[in-house]
Amino acid sequence: MVFKMNIGILALQGDVEKHAIILSDLKMDYTIVRYSEELNDLDGLIIPGGESTTLTNLMNKNHFHKPIKEFAKNKPILGTCAGMIMMSKNVNHPLVEPLGIIDLEVDRNAYGRQVHSFVDELPVRLNGHTEKIKATFIRAPKITKIGKNVEILAEYNNEPCVVKQGQHIALSFHPELNNITIFHKAAFCINDSINQQESSHAA
Ligand code: GLN
Repeated sequence: MVFKMNIGILALQGDVEKHAIILSDLKMDYTIVRYSEELNDLDGLIIPGGESTTLTNLMNKNHFHKPIKEFAKNKPILGTCAGMIMMSKNVNHPLVEPLGIIDLEVDRNAYGRQVHSFVDELPVRLNGHTEKIKATFIRAPKITKIGKNVEILAEYNNEPCVVKQGQHIALSFHPELNNITIFHKAAFCINDSINQQESSHAA
């Protein structure tokens, strides 16, 4: 029998459904997370994009800050766009209360407003390979400072846009909008051969 991880998708606000589709495609179990008690049964967590000020309010309302910080001590978290802002240590906005999970400083909306959204190709270095992917930037944050234990996995115009610290990964764009699965696989250590084995058993 193969152990199947159950990954939570924080569903307070934002782009939840597309992450669920990616996890289903990867044959992962997932849980839509609205209350902090639901973290107890999970093996990893996705903090999707959305609006970091709203995410801050809703996380305060549902008492998520402390439980997510605890969760991050031994379980992986993947944050995309506003999710990356929430995972950072410092944000240039007084209404955002980041979790300090990755040693980063970020500048909200630094890639411009909604009308300046764009898709471009960029190379990502993961597990000794470089892969070119499409990245969709929507009111995306820029990383302005990184700590010495933070690894840069990708850059856009010579600025870091995908980073990793320990088991956590944060991105300034939306991989789920281009069906990019490499970050979900990397964060949650999804081994293709295990999943294929499992789906052939299930067939
Ligand atoms: N600009 C948003 C924020 O500050 C993030 C945008 C996004 O997640 N696409 O939270």
